[in-house]
Amino acid sequence: MATLDESQSSLRSLPSPRRLLGPGPSNVHPDVLQAMAHPLVGHLDPAFLEILEGVQAALRAIFGSENRFTLPLSATGSAGMETCLANLLEKGDRIVVGVNGVFGGRMVDVATRAGAEVTRVDADWGLPLDEQAMAHAIQSVSPKVVAFVHAETSTGVCQAPGPIAKIAREAGALVVLDCVTSLAGIPVELDRWGIDAAYSGTQKCLSCAPGLSPVSFSDRALECVAARSTPVQSWFMDVGLLDGYYGGDRIYHHTAPISAVFGLAEGLARVLDEGMKNREIRHRDAAAYLVESLEPLGFEPLVAEEDRLPMLTTLKLPPSIDQRGEARVRRDLLDAHGIEIGAGLGALAGNVWRVGLMGENARRESVDALRSALESELARKD
Ligand SMILES: *Cc1c(COP(=O)(O)O)cnc(C)c1O
Repeated sequence: MATLDESQSSLRSLPSPRRLLGPGPSNVHPDVLQAMAHPLVGHLDPAFLEILEGVQAALRAIFGSENRFTLPLSATGSAGMETCLANLLEKGDRIVVGVNGVFGGRMVDVATRAGAEVTRVDADWGLPLDEQAMAHAIQSVSPKVVAFVHAETSTGVCQAPGPIAKIAREAGALVVLDCVTSLAGIPVELDRWGIDAAYSGTQKCLSCAPGLSPVSFSDRALECVAARSTPVQSWFMDVGLLDGYYGGDRIYHHTAPISAVFGLAEGLARVLDEGMKNREIRHRDAAAYLVESLEPLGFEPLVAEEDRLPMLTTLKLPPSIDQRGEARVRRDLLDAHGIEIGAGLGALAGNVWRVGLMGENARRESVDALRSALESELARKD
């Protein structure tokens, strides 16, 4: 164990800057960092409440929704997931979950802990969900909730939300969508797709610090929560209680993380200044340039082009990487070049890398830095 003296000196030894090209967090713009360093005000201060209102309006805009209940939850994306599922599910309720990667699997775990009867519909990692298989499960189970992931960060697959949401709604189910990695990178259209509850995270394409989870519930979803026969097990995540503060009455529930909200406000202003269309084009251009730049080094994308996400690319590794050991190369990229990339997860561990070009990092310049670092690592003889 480290002595207290050693621990104390490590409290002030901050790491050198990194280029964060993994599955999140992404790099944060200096203006966002500066906003976070702004002196605190109280969480009931009218000046703060005005900023919060602006944040909620901007979140509605990028969620593509008029949902009144739209707010930055004081926790990470996983807590957003848990908020959606814990509020909409009661013990014994049925849910169908699409699973084609880690985060669909996490939804199954969260729903199971909430006491739901879970039907999972699996697809191979690297492929989208099979709409026919989802339809079959939905029709035979008649679930209260259908849940799936828009942008599977563990595989790099994009799921078109509209078709599955339509099937679910026609069967009378509420639809929950994971938008953690998609929001602010590609268009999200909750109202057009018919999504009842969605959650995201601030550290991916929003390029803010981790710690907040934008969440949105439709009125239909709120009515379903209000009609529960048992209270929501989590006091902190109970949307009825959260609504007392975020819904406009501004009644104390918990202390909002002021600095994080300052940062998110600046991050959202940057998204709105750029415009979602331009932002999407920038993400798509950077991803295409990544594939084009690394193919000559032997890297091949895992996911077919039509299903591929722009903000997260899964690359199959060439033999030249295997020889050095992929974990070793990733470590060298970090130590010698300050570049972080992501390892493969689960079934893909050891076989792929995950390169994130999210938010501020979705630029050709990030790709050039990664390519030249890789070229120099692969040329090393030791
Ligand atoms: C990152 C991520 C999460 C979890 O978010 P945390 O902020 O790490 O809790 C959930 N779903 C997807 C698709 C993600 O990429």
